Amino acid sequence: MNSDVVVVGAGQAGLATSHELTQAGVDHVVLERGRVGETWRGRWDSFCLVTPNWTVRLPGGTYDGDDPDGFMPRDDIVAFLRRYAGSFDAPVREGVAVTSVRPRAGGGFVLETSEGSLDASSVVLATGAYQRPHRPAAAATLPDDILRIDVEGYRNPDELPPGAVLIVGSGQSGCQIAEELHEAGRDVVLACGRVHWAPRRLADRDLMWWLARLLANILATGHGGGHDIHFRTLQKLGITLAGHFVGAEGHRARFAPDLHETVAWSDERHADVIDRFRKLAAERGIAVEMPELDPFDESAPEEADLRGFGAVVFTTGFRPDYASWVEIPGTFDELGFPMHHECESAAAPGVYFVGTHFLRKRKSSLLIGVGEDAAIVGGAIKEGQTQRV
Ligand SMILES: Cc1cc2nc3c(=O)[nH]c(=O)nc-3n(C[C@H](O)[C@H](O)[C@H](O)COP(=O)(O)OP(=O)(O)OC[C@H]3O[C@@H](n4cnc5c(N)ncnc54)[C@H](O)[C@@H]3O)c2cc1C
Repeated sequence: MNSDVVVVGAGQAGLATSHELTQAGVDHVVLERGRVGETWRGRWDSFCLVTPNWTVRLPGGTYDGDDPDGFMPRDDIVAFLRRYAGSFDAPVREGVAVTSVRPRAGGGFVLETSEGSLDASSVVLATGAYQRPHRPAAAATLPDDILRIDVEGYRNPDELPPGAVLIVGSGQSGCQIAEELHEAGRDVVLACGRVHWAPRRLADRDLMWWLARLLANILATGHGGGHDIHFRTLQKLGITLAGHFVGAEGHRARFAPDLHETVAWSDERHADVIDRFRKLAAERGIAVEMPELDPFDESAPEEADLRGFGAVVFTTGFRPDYASWVEIPGTFDELGFPMHHECESAAAPGVYFVGTHFLRKRKSSLLIGVGEDAAIVGGAIKEGQTQRV
């Protein structure tokens, strides 16, 4: 297993880096605690891409199926990544967890793994864009007799205990799971936070085509061939929308009286996005009619009796988890994000990051953009080796 260059993680970020290292002729190993595409494997059963298949643009691994405008389901994404790894014989060691990375006396790094320790001059941390599910502090006030899970614990409606479901968090996952549970006949209460949303398609073009120059993470879904999903579509379905979840007293869940502000904030951002789309359409000579907003009913419950509920699902985002096992002082900021220059740690040259949320650009964590960062890291490691010779 010894190798001077170690990539940790075999999702798209680790594999794209491995591709670039392979192309540059750099000997390396990719250590993966599970299997290739482990994080995608862990997503819920009906999961599919939110970005269309044409956005799958890994270096040497562009989507080449017959449905570029479709949205690959979970198992196809995993199969794609496996084929990608096989296409350049990526040196992946599955089932090897890295438990710590430390500086080595005299230079380089020592990695402790589930299969012993190893030394390396360069370490690429490609351990996930979204690493540790985050729950708001109010989660702790929920009664113990109700199932509480994070998005990673959700599989399908049948696996939840019977009853209504409270979903806390109205990002992409929360809205998609709310829609799925509603379609399965569950009563759903969605505790909402501020979101960016936009139409899935305009003038026959997908949102991602329009979004190329925008930064925000915009709500949409790939389900059923892709459609709009936001506060209005969910309300129309009959899903109960509430304000922020502020905590529970016994079995009474409480929500802030702020749904109207949340929706107003999101509508303003939506108007900005539509404005930018309008300008873009004019620049590109595309005739497009921008959709009008449907009315929104701002009445919202300020509490719910949890005795009729089977589960609470938290879809309230993620936090980085590097600092718990990367023992190199000065490498992360107060939120746990890496401090870096062009993907290389500022405090520990030789440690690289790929795939992290907003690492260099918004697209750093996406299938469409991770290749750019992987190429930078592959090039830097190759150059470092050349200089040492
Ligand atoms: C719900 C959701 C939907 C998304 N949908 C899209 C989409 O439609 N389009 C898009 O482009 N992006 C999407 N993304 C964003 C992004 O593409 C994914 O999060 C993707 O999984 C990130 O790939 P990655 O390789 O950076 O990380 P991961 O896929 O998380 O891979 C990291 C790998 O590292 C391994 N690992 C972690 N720690 C260790 C360790 N200590 N030792 C060994 N191995 C380790 C893990 O097992 C894992 O296999 C979505 C993200 C989420 C959360």
